[in-house]
Amino acid sequence: MSYPSEPAFPNRFGRLYLEAVAEVLGAMGRSALLGLGGLPLLMSDLPPDNLAKEFTLREYAAINIAFLKMGGRKMGRGIAVRCGRDSFGHLLRNTDFIALERSDSLDTEKLTALLKPFTLFSEGDVQDVLTIQEDDTHYTVTFLTCPCCWGLSSEHVVDRLGKVVDEPVCFGILGYLAEGVRWIVGHELPVTEVACRIQNDSEVCVFRIDKSDS
Ligand SMILES: [Zn+2]
Ligand SMILES: [Zn+2]
Repeated sequence: MSYPSEPAFPNRFGRLYLEAVAEVLGAMGRSALLGLGGLPLLMSDLPPDNLAKEFTLREYAAINIAFLKMGGRKMGRGIAVRCGRDSFGHLLRNTDFIALERSDSLDTEKLTALLKPFTLFSEGDVQDVLTIQEDDTHYTVTFLTCPCCWGLSSEHVVDRLGKVVDEPVCFGILGYLAEGVRWIVGHELPVTEVACRIQNDSEVCVFRIDKSDS
């Protein structure tokens, strides 16, 4: 698998995500977050509203991790997941990225359509970035290249006190997936990150979506 040296999402993806962040944190909170993420340029200028691939995975991952520095382990995680959830609505309204319909149940095709925006940095197929497996009780989504933690290793992932965080951290995708699944089937289903590249000495991040909430 080969990527450009600095893989990047379309600018509009980044812009919509940062709009969702501002909805949750306010514009000042978003600026503070970007400062903590070491992204001062984005504080003054959001990515432009176009499809040029310039919003890098490095930037997306830095924002994802900055929530922990901002809010600590518990609250930071909650806010990050909430922003991921909100980003679904923003992306859904943008038909360049998602073509999705509501339905009684999930299937791998719908999950592929839902997650397509997170593969737009790649020139290849969705399957080059992630795989989806179906079992009796759940779906397993495996990100072979995970934008939430791209380029990071465990020592980068610290909380407000500088302590290394030892739990899965790919909150942006977790929240987006939970909200997208809720939108498709009309109710919440349990979504968890069961293995994270950052903590598990694994090459991949793995998300589990249960088929029922009982
Ligand atoms: Zn990840
Ligand atoms: Zn992860």
